Amino acid sequence: MRTEVGIVGAGPAGLALANVLTRRGVDCVVVERASRERVEGRQRAGLLEYRTVRWLRSQGLADRLLAESTRHHWCDFRCLGHTVRVDYGAYSDGHQHHVYPQQNLVRDLVDGLERAGSPPLFSHSVRAVTNITGRRPRLECEGMEIECDYVVGCDGFRGISRAALPATGHRAHNRRYPYDWLTVLAEVDEPAEGVRYAVHRAGFAGMMPRGPRLSRFYLQCPPGDAVTAWPAPRIVAELRQRLADGDPAGLPALGAMPEVRMLRMHSSVLTPLAHGRLLLAGDAGHVLTPSGAKGMNLAIADAAALAEALVARLREGDEGPLASYSATRLADVRRVLGFSEWLLGLLHLPGEASAAPDAELASRLAAIRRLAEPGPHAYRFAHRYVGSGVR
Ligand code: FAD
Repeated sequence: MRTEVGIVGAGPAGLALANVLTRRGVDCVVVERASRERVEGRQRAGLLEYRTVRWLRSQGLADRLLAESTRHHWCDFRCLGHTVRVDYGAYSDGHQHHVYPQQNLVRDLVDGLERAGSPPLFSHSVRAVTNITGRRPRLECEGMEIECDYVVGCDGFRGISRAALPATGHRAHNRRYPYDWLTVLAEVDEPAEGVRYAVHRAGFAGMMPRGPRLSRFYLQCPPGDAVTAWPAPRIVAELRQRLADGDPAGLPALGAMPEVRMLRMHSSVLTPLAHGRLLLAGDAGHVLTPSGAKGMNLAIADAAALAEALVARLREGDEGPLASYSATRLADVRRVLGFSEWLLGLLHLPGEASAAPDAELASRLAAIRRLAEPGPHAYRFAHRYVGSGVR
């Protein structure tokens, strides 16, 4: 098989890129190792930034999202028994998040490719990406080889595209944080109205809206903790304690928990994001913790930049945007990583604070209150959190 752009992976990055390339007349093939059912059933992110929605809309990819998503412009911080509401919409020219589960966006993007007559090749695993410095890089799949002009690796942090890069000339900047997060997707009797973060002496907890009957929760735990240490009653008790100071009415009633798993809290940014005719996008090039809800948004921002760059190269012969893709995107990734880590710092008490947690918590509360009052702290937080595009 022969195509102009071979894309490994049908996550948000690969699918968004393929939709735009197809609409702009660039021939491309998405190869995905999982089944369509599995890809469309994977529940992960849910908060779309302002700039992500603006771009999807400009490409004609947001009709269902705009019709079905809910909008959020505030979040609550709980600390020392106080709830501080941060109306970031008010400090970012009215910009809002859209709450739209990742699997719905993925479904919409798969539908878009199907309508355009080029659905992803599901249940096909790419085994190797070869000849990346030649004129015709190849995707080697079981029983099939695809010859391409360019290959884009959108196959996530553990994908094979990274493995195709030469050992020298690339560096992964890895960071391991001194805690992990238990992540729980749970049925709830009432929807989370907005995001709630708790800074608590027992550790951080978070509640994120995912729909009318589903919320995602996070609980800070010691690094390396096992998921088996967290039976449902303990999860409920800890969430109630940290998010509502023990008040049962302060938290929705939790029902079935379709997903309980441990997130090893780490980040990794690969530089550069390109080698020869292989380009990386999304989690394949950079993975962040869920702090600030940035991963899917960065993946789509990569796709947006790559789509323009590949169209410029393949239709106009302009190599400039493709040559600067890695540097441009890494600058944005580093800015976003900085924000995500700053938020981690606000939400977690350092280990040495266990001797005097109240003093540390009081200073956190003061910092949180600054985000809720007009001024440079609130302005900066609002624009970075909602992803307005303003630096
Ligand atoms: P992925 O979505 O990982 O897609 C990669 C695809 O490649 C997969 O479908 C995989 O099957 C396929 N693949 C892998 N290897 C091969 C191969 N050899 N051949 C063919 N196909 C292959 N982000 C946010 O923005 N907001 C949030 O609120 C948020 N919350 C999150 C909560 C959790 C619990 C988790 C785990 C993540 C969260 N994220 C969030 C991050 C977000 O889900 C990821 O950043 C996003 O999925 C990255 O998209 P991607 O397209 O780069 O990769």
